[in-house]
Amino acid sequence: RDEVGAITKWIGTLTNIDERKKAEAVLQESETRFRTLAETLPQMIWMRTVDGKIEYASENWERYSGIKDISEAWKAMTHPDDWDMVMSVWEKAKSNNTAYRYEVRLKNKEGEYRWHNAAGEPLKDEGGNVIKWIGAMTDMHDQKTREQQKDEFISIASHEMKTPLTTAKGFIELLLRSLSEENQTALFATKVKQAVDKLNDFITELLDASKIQNGQLNYNITTFDFNKMVEETIENIQLTSKNHIIQKTGNCSQQITGDRSRLQQVVTNLLTNALKYSPKADKVLVNIEEQDRNIQVSVQDFGVGMSEHHLDKIFNRYYRVQEHAFLFQGLGIGLHISSNIIQRHEGKMWAESEPDKGSIFYFTLPL
Ligand code: ADP
Repeated sequence: RDEVGAITKWIGTLTNIDERKKAEAVLQESETRFRTLAETLPQMIWMRTVDGKIEYASENWERYSGIKDISEAWKAMTHPDDWDMVMSVWEKAKSNNTAYRYEVRLKNKEGEYRWHNAAGEPLKDEGGNVIKWIGAMTDMHDQKTREQQKDEFISIASHEMKTPLTTAKGFIELLLRSLSEENQTALFATKVKQAVDKLNDFITELLDASKIQNGQLNYNITTFDFNKMVEETIENIQLTSKNHIIQKTGNCSQQITGDRSRLQQVVTNLLTNALKYSPKADKVLVNIEEQDRNIQVSVQDFGVGMSEHHLDKIFNRYYRVQEHAFLFQGLGIGLHISSNIIQRHEGKMWAESEPDKGSIFYFTLPL
């Protein structure tokens, strides 16, 4: 412009933005692909910014909840009893930048709560910084309901069976006492007793698993001589096995605070498993090691073992290694109960194993 402001010339530049346009087109295409994918899935999909703002929610959200604005729907849909758990999982995931999963009841537009499996993942840039969160809700109501019905049935059935079984157990003991050992009937009664004892063990396991499920497994905490308890347990189990020698090494010089009989149940479970899953071996090794703040107990057998991928699953309820299921009796809940008992004592339980070489089961307890 000149002094009076009138335009005298036009000056301009041309910048090559071809690369940017191409990049935008690629981004657009990937965005379209993501949305198409997200809209095709039966799940409810969401994406949030780092500060928690919902950036995208698939149409299934509105279809399910009848609520347009998903940021408002989140709390309104969540069952009030689940909300604190949801928040605490989400806060923990945000502060650790890690993926999470939980089960939650979400209300649909008819007002019915349905169980969902919630999963969320942080989306990171090349430098590892979280740029977004992405997640999905999968309806698992039918499966969950079936599981609950099964648990309820097992709980009621094992409860109902326990009373007549205890009566039978008592009378068989009396019968055995009243018969002389040479009597053939005594042999029959012994066989009945063995079968009833086995049945009793199964039912006790089922009841314990139900109690864990309902948070009703009670603990009677005392301070006791751990070493003595392990030795006693070994002696008891040794009586049941003719083919194996159970050898103990190491010691625990200190007293342990915990539930003696529940911890004995853990040692019994590991020992009976070690014997059961090593039918051709002749020994089982037990070691107690005092560490800084823990004691570590290991039970080693030289039996059938298992491949590595089973190791994190064998502590799940009802999980059994398929190849073992045909050959060995069991319900797949002993380790579930044991690891729960150890967790309740603030200890850890894990296993190492190799097929056809054997297994080592470990647990620690704080001193
Ligand atoms: P159960 O022995 O009644 O099936 P557990 O919960 O005690 O149940 O064990 C779960 C599964 O872990 C078993 O079915 C078996 O496949 C595997 N397992 C446990 N202990 C051993 C062991 N010492 N050696 C090999 N496999 C084992």
